[in-house]
Amino acid sequence: MHKPMPERGRAGPEVLAELDAFKAQDPRFKEGRVWSLVYYLDEEHSGFIKDAYHSYASENGLNPGAFKSLKKIESEVIAATAEILNGTEDVCGVVTSGGTESCLMAVKTYRDMARDTRGVKKPEMILPETAHVAWFKASEYFGVKIRLVPLTADFTPDLKKLKSLINRNTVMILGSAPEYPHGTIDPIQEMGAIAEKKNIPLHVDACVGGFILPFIEDNGGAVPPWDYRVPGVTSISADIHKYGYAAKGASTITYRNLDYLRYQMFVYENWAGGVFASPALLGTRPGGGYSAAWSVLQYFGKEGYRQLARETVAAVHALKAGVNSIPELAVMGNPIGPLFSFRSTDPTLSIYAVGDQMDARGWQVNRNQFPEGLHAMVTAQHLKVVDQYIADLKASVDVVRANPALAREGGAATYGMLAHVPLRGMVRKKVLEMFSEQYRAGGGELDLSSGDAAGGPPGLVDKLVNWYVQRQQRKGR
Ligand SMILES: *Cc1c(COP(=O)(O)O)cnc(C)c1O
Repeated sequence: MHKPMPERGRAGPEVLAELDAFKAQDPRFKEGRVWSLVYYLDEEHSGFIKDAYHSYASENGLNPGAFKSLKKIESEVIAATAEILNGTEDVCGVVTSGGTESCLMAVKTYRDMARDTRGVKKPEMILPETAHVAWFKASEYFGVKIRLVPLTADFTPDLKKLKSLINRNTVMILGSAPEYPHGTIDPIQEMGAIAEKKNIPLHVDACVGGFILPFIEDNGGAVPPWDYRVPGVTSISADIHKYGYAAKGASTITYRNLDYLRYQMFVYENWAGGVFASPALLGTRPGGGYSAAWSVLQYFGKEGYRQLARETVAAVHALKAGVNSIPELAVMGNPIGPLFSFRSTDPTLSIYAVGDQMDARGWQVNRNQFPEGLHAMVTAQHLKVVDQYIADLKASVDVVRANPALAREGGAATYGMLAHVPLRGMVRKKVLEMFSEQYRAGGGELDLSSGDAAGGPPGLVDKLVNWYVQRQQRKGR
């Protein structure tokens, strides 16, 4: 076995072989078993983005004046993005390392813009409850208070409530196209009208939708207006490493014009290392992420993306129909686009227990909470597993219906309980403690004995629930 840092270096091929061997326990995404995290098509495409990444693996986009090729690549990626988002020629932006960076940047931009133009010192932003967790992170990082808009029955924000939350400290409003938990598109047109009337920026988080909704629309699909065609929309985040099928490390943040984007810039003129200017969060910016993003746009072209969208929508339709054909299950809300969630309509049937059964059949299915559901981020690759997925889903429902006690076992018990711990502050504290523990020096060996499909580190949820159960027992004594 290797040492973390061997005294003497090892042969390259041996190191690469070991690297490959590490993957043995990882999710089986190449077989279409994984419903998030990875956007995989086939080995040909995968090899192409690797080559495109490699060709710029050393180059640095930090200083646009140094590697002029990377600035050109970035400009072309942004121009392509602006075009599919139906922006005018004034739309401008930056390639970032991912959706989270794009969302963080929008919050920083609007906070600083409100401070500069209106003297806002206690910035607030208005988010629907379905906003991606990146926005909650941005709030914490940048000290922008969240005003949360409750949802209506179809999972879209209550617009009356939204209006009532606007005040002099509001620096931005957020809408999603679509939102991550259920795949519904917020009423961007109505939100744009409100934002415009109040003269507040409206950001559309299309991290997941940006590189597929335009092509669904091209194919004749009914997509409500959500992009730069909507007056009032001032910026859009769109990830290329999701439905653009780029290598990891590529997203975009674009603005209606430079008057907004300039507030994203950082300049420090007195640094001992020289005058410094940076357009986004990172210092060194990985050339490989940009070159792979550019290459994949060239590789597929609009026609290629339309075809991918066609296959994805076919898979989504078949999956939704399959789910809805099971009497105890129903798709949640009115999702448009590549993802959806579904719940149990039968109070005696635990959807989490169904999830456990799906896991046992080799699927990796994510769990939603508030309300409870199972999540599916569908790619073109999933078209070939639709029938198997639905057959397994039916079998899973049958098993749980015959054994309702499964709701009190395994993952179903832990997830169910986690959602019902009333003291959310304590949940937060405990998760923080356990999560940090995984980063203790010498750590890194993850407990693979119990999988945590919610995307957290394996075993975390189980540990948390054990803690809660013991706490309740102590209290009962
Ligand atoms: C994925 C996603 C993000 C965050 O993107 P990352 O690339 O994972 O950082 C933000 N918003 C939405 C709606 C997303 O789906």
